[in-house]
Amino acid sequence: MCGIFGIDGHDDAANLTYLGLYALQHRGQESAGIVTWDGERMRVERGMGHVADVFPARVIRSLAGRRAIGHTRYSTAGTSVIANAQPIVVNTSMGPLGIVHNGNLTNAVELRRGLEDEGAIFQTTSDTEVILHLMARNPRRRVVDSLIEALARVRGAYSLLLISQQALVAARDPYGFRPLMLGDLDGVPCVASESCAFDLLGARQARELELGEVLVARRGEVESCRLPPAPQPARCVFEHVYFARPDSRLFGDPVSQARLAMGARLAREAPAAADVVVPIPDSGLFAALGYSRESGLPLEFGLIRNHYVGRTFIEPAQTIRHFGVKVKLNPVRDLIAGRRVVLIDDSIVRGTTSPKIVKMVRDAGAAEVHLRISCPPTRWPCHYGIDMPTRQELIAAEHPLDEIRALTGADSLAYLSLAGMLAAVSGPPESYCTACWTGDYRVPVSAADRRQAELFPIRLEEGE
Ligand code: AMP
Repeated sequence: MCGIFGIDGHDDAANLTYLGLYALQHRGQESAGIVTWDGERMRVERGMGHVADVFPARVIRSLAGRRAIGHTRYSTAGTSVIANAQPIVVNTSMGPLGIVHNGNLTNAVELRRGLEDEGAIFQTTSDTEVILHLMARNPRRRVVDSLIEALARVRGAYSLLLISQQALVAARDPYGFRPLMLGDLDGVPCVASESCAFDLLGARQARELELGEVLVARRGEVESCRLPPAPQPARCVFEHVYFARPDSRLFGDPVSQARLAMGARLAREAPAAADVVVPIPDSGLFAALGYSRESGLPLEFGLIRNHYVGRTFIEPAQTIRHFGVKVKLNPVRDLIAGRRVVLIDDSIVRGTTSPKIVKMVRDAGAAEVHLRISCPPTRWPCHYGIDMPTRQELIAAEHPLDEIRALTGADSLAYLSLAGMLAAVSGPPESYCTACWTGDYRVPVSAADRRQAELFPIRLEEGE
């Protein structure tokens, strides 16, 4: 996953991009980067870590220019190293180009092998670089034409931004897997993965980019063209389930409302004889509120999350049991003790986190723990940009429901049905990608890309 932001025609372009990325930090905490065009050259800064760490004020000041794009990265293709941090900036016969990309291409490895056989030298292991190579080999007077021709050769999921000396270009794949929004900051066009970035800047959310739209912004003007349409849209429902911020609006729905509706449907489909509903923060908050409202059971904040936990922490020499989860979550005993608890989370992926949380709630004195999950069992890896492990590591791919329940240690376990989840969003059910639950991959994955994903799966940190 990743968050992207771009703006064209503003004196404060780098600073506004920094703020946009700040609001999109939840979409990737691994690395951050910004590139600006200052009228003569590209100025780029990238680093590992959070947006605020990579961009102290003096760095922002050095990023002169009125056109900027930026990225926060959560690796889904390529390893987690600085070389893979975006933007990727290259020199071509069309001049310098910078690119940021959210999504995952499904034929990048195949294309890359072909390009390497012809002598191309890649600087990164990221799938995004393939697009730049295709462009560099096929220069056009208008950079956007070179991009469109490159996009005709790639398959998979992309919401991307390209910066050149001519323009800022935004493109969304014809399936629309990942979100991309157009905003308006006092007449200046800006583009962001999620609308929450516009709220921070005080920009107006103009609209979502159309599926397959390629939008060019230059000198205050915006114009669009379309890539050939896909047979069917494939918007990622997992954005609504887990990934996006609840104060964003995407694919035509407020994320908060989609999550509340998922929780309410879960309460109808899988009621529990219990006393309180407790969300696993933050991912289960809205679904738990929906469950509580629908079931009439009171919502209690029985688990508290420490929001200041970085990606790594030093364990004491004497191992503390379940240390990793305890650093992040702690129960509020007086809300839990002696009560039958419905514990709500958005998803179970590997199944390493939920047994620890169930145990934590039991140790805090809960009489019973009923685990409810606001999406169906996750059985298939995502090839379109969500960080998911291989099939063997997905607990629901390997175990039936009663075994998963036993592994979590809960008294009962239920997931929201596929139909229930899709009824919580407003688009027609067939317009969403459900591959991680159904294995219905709308865009084929090349054999080389599939092998690569199996050989080098991305390692999630526990409970991330
Ligand atoms: P686990 O079952 O131990 O793999 O952890 C599942 C938890 O991680 C859920 O509570 C989710 O909130 C969260 N989660 C789900 N999908 C992802 C993802 N792609 N990246 C990071 N965290 C995730």
